Amino acid sequence: MANLNRKIYIDERLCTNCGACVDSCLFGALSLDNEKAIIDYNSCTLCGACVDECPVSAIIKQDTEIEDITGDFNDYAGVMIWGEVEAHGDLSPVSLELLNIARQLADRKKVQLSITILGNGVANLAEYAIKHGADRVFIVDSTEFSDFLEERYIDAIAYIVNKYKPEIFLGGSTLSGRRLLPRLAVRLKTGLTADCTDLNIDPDTGILLQTRPAFGGNIMATIACPNYRPQMATVRHKVFTEALSDDSRSGDIIKIEIEEIKIARVAKALLKRIDESTEEEIPVTDADIIVAGGRGVGGQEGFNVLRELAAIFGGTIAASRAAVDSGWVPYHRQVGQTGRTVAPKLYIACGISGAIQHKVGMQTSNYIVAINKDKSAPIFDIADIGIVGDLFDVVPALVKELQAK
Ligand code: FAD
Repeated sequence: MANLNRKIYIDERLCTNCGACVDSCLFGALSLDNEKAIIDYNSCTLCGACVDECPVSAIIKQDTEIEDITGDFNDYAGVMIWGEVEAHGDLSPVSLELLNIARQLADRKKVQLSITILGNGVANLAEYAIKHGADRVFIVDSTEFSDFLEERYIDAIAYIVNKYKPEIFLGGSTLSGRRLLPRLAVRLKTGLTADCTDLNIDPDTGILLQTRPAFGGNIMATIACPNYRPQMATVRHKVFTEALSDDSRSGDIIKIEIEEIKIARVAKALLKRIDESTEEEIPVTDADIIVAGGRGVGGQEGFNVLRELAAIFGGTIAASRAAVDSGWVPYHRQVGQTGRTVAPKLYIACGISGAIQHKVGMQTSNYIVAINKDKSAPIFDIADIGIVGDLFDVVPALVKELQAK
């Protein structure tokens, strides 16, 4: 059976505002405005009952068949990732993490792993990507890609994907990835699961299983895309570890000339990439040691004692959403479902209860220390060391002890 995209709308020119449709709707989705009937699409179930009731045929039901490409999948093979290039010309850390998980997926499916790298002066990254797990590198090296203009990137990646047909395409949930990948998915007429925390292969069907938190982080949903290709997902920074370098690896480098691709030249970059933060403190995603504070820290000044502890380790501070929402710490230091995902060597949680939405952002930390007054706080469930006590007693005592050493 074909998949249908159903639309119901009112032709305002025909509507006589008679109200017949209002009475016919079991869901209370229709009402009369001054001159016409209006549909509340939050309540409308697209059942179409109103369409038959309208005496002047002013309500239109439109079913458009969605192109079904089931059956053409034999052409699709392999795993491909987008190799994001940072402003200073290196492959981004999340791309190295993607190389690691994508290599595992490709091995499980016994297929090739490719990486697509676009940029200006990026040819040197090809060997590097191969040493880190890629079998094939598609390189588009051109001044056209000096700036991150997503129209051009989409044109180029869509060209490569349509030509080489990977079965799976992955990218990072970075600022650029969040701009690029959803639009790319629309161009390729496929689905996309954003912010995955796990990726696997269904042993029976070979389909990509994409796991991510859903319903406010209360459940982990596993999503599959059986009917469209490529299967696309984004992954947050620090969810997976980086691929290790192996000098014995070899692979193919496929250079794609810019003339081969029809790229949009409409957009122009007026501003250069700017850093997310002008702070001198280390970004949370780069820190090996994080001292994080929650509502229990009580205010902006409370974070000074946490900063002192972080400084001893050469680390940085982070916060729960409660602390960020209170304005004590800027948003880019928020850890959790709607903040950053971190995986430092040491995460010290001070006055943080350990709500699931916080835990999903830090539970892969190597070593977790929790300091909380409440011995039943859920953060203790995932802590390697739990200290029950007032953080304003414990943290200064720790600082004193460590300074003495
Ligand atoms: P609380 O839950 O209020 O905990 C404060 C803790 O401090 C308590 O356990 C208390 O015992 C302890 N305490 C108090 N005083 C002291 C003291 N002097 N010494 C020691 N301990 C003390 N939250 C995030 O963190 N990140 C997210 O990205 C995020 N995204 C969300 C997305 C959605 C859709 C939703 C619905 C929620 C999200 N949340 C997120 C909010 C989350 O549910 C929690 O509300 C939040 O994490 C609570 O922050 P907290 O632990 O600092 O505060």
